[in-house]
Amino acid sequence: MTTTRPQVVVLCITGWCRNGSTIIGNVLNEIPGVMHVGELHFLWKNAVGKGANNTCGCGAVLTECPFWSARIAELMPPGSSLEAYAAQVVSRQRACVRTRHTWRVGRRGPDRADLRAHADLMSRTYQAIAAASGARVIVDTSKIPGEAALLPFLEGVRPCFVHLVRDPRAVAESWREPKQYVYAMSAAKSTAYWHGFNLASRAVTRRYPERSLLVRYEDFLAAPREVVGRLLTLCGEPAGSNPVHGRVIDLGVNHTVTGNPDRFRSGATVLRDTDHRWVTGLRRRSRLAAVLLAWPLFGKYGYRYRTPAATRGKDELIGHRA
Ligand SMILES: [Zn+2]
Repeated sequence: MTTTRPQVVVLCITGWCRNGSTIIGNVLNEIPGVMHVGELHFLWKNAVGKGANNTCGCGAVLTECPFWSARIAELMPPGSSLEAYAAQVVSRQRACVRTRHTWRVGRRGPDRADLRAHADLMSRTYQAIAAASGARVIVDTSKIPGEAALLPFLEGVRPCFVHLVRDPRAVAESWREPKQYVYAMSAAKSTAYWHGFNLASRAVTRRYPERSLLVRYEDFLAAPREVVGRLLTLCGEPAGSNPVHGRVIDLGVNHTVTGNPDRFRSGATVLRDTDHRWVTGLRRRSRLAAVLLAWPLFGKYGYRYRTPAATRGKDELIGHRA
């Protein structure tokens, strides 16, 4: 196929929610030529106030943010209303790029009219973001495996995949209580999703091993500069642009569509070195549920039941080919 649109690299972070993708995306956002757009999948739903949060990372409502209001205007078909167009996009996302569609989309690509329409919108969206921001690399932390599977079929897009995993007990702890605009969920429910999303993410990265990395969030915390260096190599950016030097990084303002509420923080940010809050926060029953429901991936990713320290210092998984 002849590409008429210029190539933009999309660094797609997959996995289950609360896996640390927001902070990794915001660190990458500090690199000139790289833009973290947050969870782009929710742009339309959030723009009409029907998603979890309608505020951009810059603090403005999406439809008033100078960056997103202009992109929304240029992506909408002439003469259509935002409400009607957003409803159409969200309905199409539900019909063709849900987690259960991942395997089919990966195998067959956009072989139906709705998938072709969605692929075209995704392609135009990345192109519009690149043209307006000047970014060579767009970091998308949507974590929707069905859309990740569609990326290799988009015109003018060169995707790279980061399958980001985090100990399901730490994820369950993070879901234990509501946080600003994010609701709570039980350890069993969180881990059931963890399993499904990680299986689907794996299906995508296995199809494109040469452009995929498996990264554990715990390894990012243990060695952030090293992991960011591997992500730069993956998307063809120079190693010298690595913004991590030590554990404190100065984060600027970002335009993330949605993500962890921490995205609103800017200024000096400390990258903590451990992720063990669940050890004291999560009840034994919840820990057991998380480990059992995450099996066998739990063991495959190098996590151990007894000592959280056993998951640290074990660096063979850092930047492992997925
Ligand atoms: Zn903004």
